[in-house]
Amino acid sequence: MTTKILDFIDGQWTDAKAADLLDVVNPAEGASIAQVVMTPSTVVAQAVEAGHTAFQEWRATPVTDRIQYMFKLKMLLEEHLDDIAKTITNECGKTYKESVGELRRGIENVEVSCGMPSLIQGYNNEDIARGIDEHMFRQPLGVVAAITPFNFPGMIPLWFLPYAVATGNCFILKPSEKVPMTTAKLFELIEQAGFPKGVIQLVNGGKETVDALLDHPLVRAISFVGSTPVAKYIYSRATANGKRAQCQGGAKNPVIIMPDADMDTATRIMADSAFGCAGQRCLAASVAITVGEAKNTFTEQIADAATSRKVGYGLDEDVQMGPVITKESKTRIEGIIANGQQQGINVLVDGRSKTVGGYDDGYWVFPTVLDGVPPESDIATTEIFGPVLSLMHANTIDDAIALVNARSFGNMACIFTSSGSAARKFRNEADAGNVGINIGVAAPMAFFPFSGWNDSFFGDLHAQSRHGVEFYTQTKVVVERWPKEWSRQF
Ligand code: NAD
Repeated sequence: MTTKILDFIDGQWTDAKAADLLDVVNPAEGASIAQVVMTPSTVVAQAVEAGHTAFQEWRATPVTDRIQYMFKLKMLLEEHLDDIAKTITNECGKTYKESVGELRRGIENVEVSCGMPSLIQGYNNEDIARGIDEHMFRQPLGVVAAITPFNFPGMIPLWFLPYAVATGNCFILKPSEKVPMTTAKLFELIEQAGFPKGVIQLVNGGKETVDALLDHPLVRAISFVGSTPVAKYIYSRATANGKRAQCQGGAKNPVIIMPDADMDTATRIMADSAFGCAGQRCLAASVAITVGEAKNTFTEQIADAATSRKVGYGLDEDVQMGPVITKESKTRIEGIIANGQQQGINVLVDGRSKTVGGYDDGYWVFPTVLDGVPPESDIATTEIFGPVLSLMHANTIDDAIALVNARSFGNMACIFTSSGSAARKFRNEADAGNVGINIGVAAPMAFFPFSGWNDSFFGDLHAQSRHGVEFYTQTKVVVERWPKEWSRQF
């Protein structure tokens, strides 16, 4: 019998019976492994109302008690790490090692939220005028919601949930409909951790489900991670409805390879960055810009690394890269490569039309390297979201930085060099919010904000860390006077 992925509303696993069902597909097999409910707006409204009711008690629960649930959740996540990681691989396609890695980064956020008694503290001054004191407190907002993408089903919900809940809000998650099984496992653990009903809820679905959250007056804040067009749409609709919004979008991440870089290290790290998770990472290196004589060595070495990468089903031994998420994705990526080739771009390593033995129906695109990509071409500016690395060549670091900054995105930019002054110049001038120096995936730890810029982020406060605490709380400033003569003297 087909597994059906349900919603978790007001402490109950709920079958939104009126809803359509969508197949969940294992991308290595190209076969359905479950079905997920597409929650209609009427059921979303029930979840929001349950969250609103639960909020009254949850916000009054001391923060020291609220974090006890987070400690339990952390332990449960550790205990079930293997099972959840296998689920991620099965519905999302990445390798088992990558799945474990993303879960670790998610758990980190649960750990950070356990410090909420300190993180949520306000500040105060005695005697701002004679006999008058002033305090700032942080209070939760109410019902808040997050909408998350397919590529990190175990990690990205945890960029938001722990901060929202530990600060005293009630949280609703709408995960990607392509990968709902991981979230269902996470919610089984949330149920076991014993959070009060209505504090954390799950509504599955697509656009109708999202729009119901964006339009419901009791939803106070929206967190989003996904592609830039959807991020823009969600940011404008949520803010037009008077909500706070933080919307992380797509990316096109450039990396400079200086001639003084340790070329073996740079190549190894770049291959992991560009082809890891089949290039479906918002922090994947997608453009490598060589400077001067780095051109020949790096081009040769990265082509070798791309050719030798072992592609296959992520639970099989030694596999280094899995499939892309859907058949449409494979067709789209192969089409982009074909267009580039027609425009005269050199397809140095061609990952099209490949299959993996035993997985003939999988959505395979092998590592691909495109050389001599013109900076103004579609390939140089469009997010491909597949294992495709474009090479550009510059003569000086200034020219290379100009190429880095000539983009609409600003999620990540990196440099490989052994020169401190080149690194320092790059750190200062790169127009991106997450910067890597001799790093290929500059993913901020949970205690730093995930700092996308430009078309990679719409909003003010980012995910994770103190930014998360500020996003999910409103400040209340109290000015108070207690003259002696008003009080009974003892
Ligand atoms: P997506 O934008 O297609 O979907 C993201 C979420 O939005 C899903 O939950 C989906 O159901 C919902 N959605 C999709 N279309 C919608 C619409 N028209 N109206 C309302 N909701 C809609 O993204 P995806 O394909 O799941 O994920 C890949 C994208 O996410 C890439 O662009 C990647 O760069 C980006 N991403 C960004 C970050 C970051 O931190 N900036 C992190 C991970 C992924």
